[in-house]
Amino acid sequence: MFESLSDRLGGVFDKLRGRGALNEADVRAAMREVRIALLEADVALPVAKDFIAKVTQRAIGTEVTKSVTPGQQVVKIVNDELVAMLGGEAEGLELGVAPPAVIMMVGLQGSGKTTTTAKIARRLKTKDGKKVLMASLDVNRPAAQEQLRVLGEQVEVATLPIIEGQQPTEIARRALQAAKLQGFDVLMLDTAGRLHVDEALMAEMQAVAAAANPAEALLVVDALTGQDAVNVATNFSERMALTGVVLTRMDGDARGGAALSMRAVTGKPIKFVGTGEKVDALDAFDPSRVAGRILGMGDVVSLVEKASESVDADAAEAMAKKFAKGQFDMNDLRQQLAQMQKMGGMGAMMSMMPGLGKMKAQAEKAGADDKLLKRMEAIILSMTPKERGRPQLLNAKRKIRIANGAGTTVQEVNRLLKMHKEMSGAMKKIKKMGGLKGFAKMLG
Ligand code: GDP
Repeated sequence: MFESLSDRLGGVFDKLRGRGALNEADVRAAMREVRIALLEADVALPVAKDFIAKVTQRAIGTEVTKSVTPGQQVVKIVNDELVAMLGGEAEGLELGVAPPAVIMMVGLQGSGKTTTTAKIARRLKTKDGKKVLMASLDVNRPAAQEQLRVLGEQVEVATLPIIEGQQPTEIARRALQAAKLQGFDVLMLDTAGRLHVDEALMAEMQAVAAAANPAEALLVVDALTGQDAVNVATNFSERMALTGVVLTRMDGDARGGAALSMRAVTGKPIKFVGTGEKVDALDAFDPSRVAGRILGMGDVVSLVEKASESVDADAAEAMAKKFAKGQFDMNDLRQQLAQMQKMGGMGAMMSMMPGLGKMKAQAEKAGADDKLLKRMEAIILSMTPKERGRPQLLNAKRKIRIANGAGTTVQEVNRLLKMHKEMSGAMKKIKKMGGLKGFAKMLG
């Protein structure tokens, strides 16, 4: 997501950063290019105009012209204003104090509502330890209730037993009752969708909201529909009390226009974005991180968060000690490779790291990525335990044996050894800079 905007802005800023001093004409010329980049990313015109006006006003003031690093200063202003445009602070779910908290999911048919319901339920369960009940109120589409039940089994979240012939508000009341009696923390209501926003749909949503008194009413919209997604959100928010928006299919939206205009046009915060069909493909929406990603500063924070989610803390601690003592061997490298796979593969990691976005594209072109991880693992498995513990034992003869064993080439074995050496070196450097925490501080 945001790749093309990111590339365009990168070009504009590279030009600015190369200059010692900036005058008003330079800033205005750059802002014209930024404006075109925003419009090409499908940002709504009034939002783009407003953005440019704000940045220009700050940038032609003393903030930039008197600055020692004018180019950087412009980037910083653009970053600040981008964060503001995206909504400022990240807004998570507000579940209130008295359980069960009701989360009502609304949206058009096919927007990804049911999938997102299961994704959020899974996240509440695994990240926050909540006991969640899901209920489908969609009585229009025959398979809808069944779809949620199947998803519930998949994410191991309870679903309300289906009773044929009940109306949405009846189901909502029954679900609330069940959630109270059985001690659920959160009740998620997946409501019916329609092809368009119409009166019948709105009346049904209002009736359900009145019956269930939701703590959160989240609108699910498809990011691929661009400006239409923003229009749908405007329509919904005018007729019911939405607390937030979830943008799905951000994995397919390279332009990101819906995400960029949503807050400014509708006044509603984006709380999550869907990034794939799988049940774990859901990210919290954090304006400063998104701005960082657009401006190519990488997404270090989300990398760290993802790592802490999937890394076993004890294993990480043990690994850190080994690094410190310079004892990082092939067994450790293998563990690291497995970890990378868990975190979504090399591609996912590279795209989050500063400056590595381009490398990712190259790696993909070369057919590398996850297959490479598997091949590297095969190479390590072809080593004897002794070799794994002391990679310096690997002479030419041994390398040939290992390459044959793993069904690969000596070059590939050398590549792995180089990677091992680089990782050990990088870790030593990180340690010198005050450990991972110091490293993160330096980047952030
Ligand atoms: P509903 O009619 O709004 O309940 O939509 P569904 O939840 O049934 O989703 C419709 C389709 O969109 C399904 O095939 C989902 O797998 C897919 N989908 C949902 N969210 C995402 C997403 O974030 N990315 C991608 N690529 N597909 C998604």
